[in-house]
Amino acid sequence: MASVMDVALKPIERKVEEGIPLGIDDGLTLFRTPDVHSLGRMAKAAKIRKSGRKVFYVLNRYINSTNVCYAGCKFCSFAADEFKEKARVVRMTADEVFQKTLETGANFNQLHIVGGHDPRQLSLDYWLPLMRRVKERLPHVQLSLFTAAELEYMCKRHRMSFADMLAELKAAGLDNINGGGAEIFADRVRSQICPNKVGAENWLAIHEEAHRQGIASNATMLYGTIETLEERVDHLIRLRESQRRSPGYNAFIPLAFHPDGNELNDCGWTSGLDDIRMFAVARLMLDNFDHIKAYWMIQGLKVCQVALEFGADDMDGTHGSTDEELIYHSAGTQSGQYVDDREFRRLIQEAGFEPVRRNSTYEEFDWDWTPPELVPA
Ligand code: SF4
Repeated sequence: MASVMDVALKPIERKVEEGIPLGIDDGLTLFRTPDVHSLGRMAKAAKIRKSGRKVFYVLNRYINSTNVCYAGCKFCSFAADEFKEKARVVRMTADEVFQKTLETGANFNQLHIVGGHDPRQLSLDYWLPLMRRVKERLPHVQLSLFTAAELEYMCKRHRMSFADMLAELKAAGLDNINGGGAEIFADRVRSQICPNKVGAENWLAIHEEAHRQGIASNATMLYGTIETLEERVDHLIRLRESQRRSPGYNAFIPLAFHPDGNELNDCGWTSGLDDIRMFAVARLMLDNFDHIKAYWMIQGLKVCQVALEFGADDMDGTHGSTDEELIYHSAGTQSGQYVDDREFRRLIQEAGFEPVRRNSTYEEFDWDWTPPELVPA
């Protein structure tokens, strides 16, 4: 590898090459270096050691099944008050979710659903029969459902422990927990931007319990609001420690804050430079995470393509073909709703990498793999 230009990066480069986990000061140096090219080279080398020239994507269906929520997170443009904002409410019945799941056929590997803290929807009565029904018709599709925030809410409503709740969901077919709800773990930030949702301790406890039960998960970080760089690095280190205690996270996904239509709009948009730094720092800090995901819906396809040079090795999924993504579309994203898998492959190949189709748990598939016939109803 070409030598780094910023001398402050040299000891960090040595640590990375020797497999020594980076500390808070290292993370801050990475965020602050003016030598973005060397940062990218270091992150890309770390990515190549993890996954070679592979860059992953998934054919999936993405659904936001309800936007009714009472948590009141200040960065959220998605949630709707069911009484005061009736026209904005999206609240699907289990039948509607099932029909949407099948709307584009059976050739996909993951069903990804997240929603708000909706008292009518976040219950086992709603989810267990729906999950079993999907698994019966589409046994090849992995269920990537809920965030730790939704799971904590559902545990409270049912007066159930995390372990018992997760065991019920796993028995009904839960394969993977989505990584949302982590925001920034630091109490200073959480108490200001999302005081009513799951705290850092329970977010980590739910994921760690899921991993112990054989349910995989991902992890996220919302950046670009009021957090400091120290709090970003602290978040990454807490995730790394969690992975060490109870392995099972597949991907880390940096989520750039979007300001339209929410109370934190004066924080503005993140910059492209901040975005690619975020991917690179995450790749270097999270030495025990296999994958760093550049989620095109959030940073946009073009930044995500550049992110592949800065340590990312995943571009997320096709999302189906209609208009179900509401979280980032409510907050001003300019990304569309659907990306053809041919477009993923083209962007990945153009960046010099090998596109690989995957499912939630990173089993690999040929690009033209098709599932067996739909199981008859
Ligand atoms: S971020 Fe999630 S928990 Fe918070 S208000 Fe929005 S939908 Fe509710």
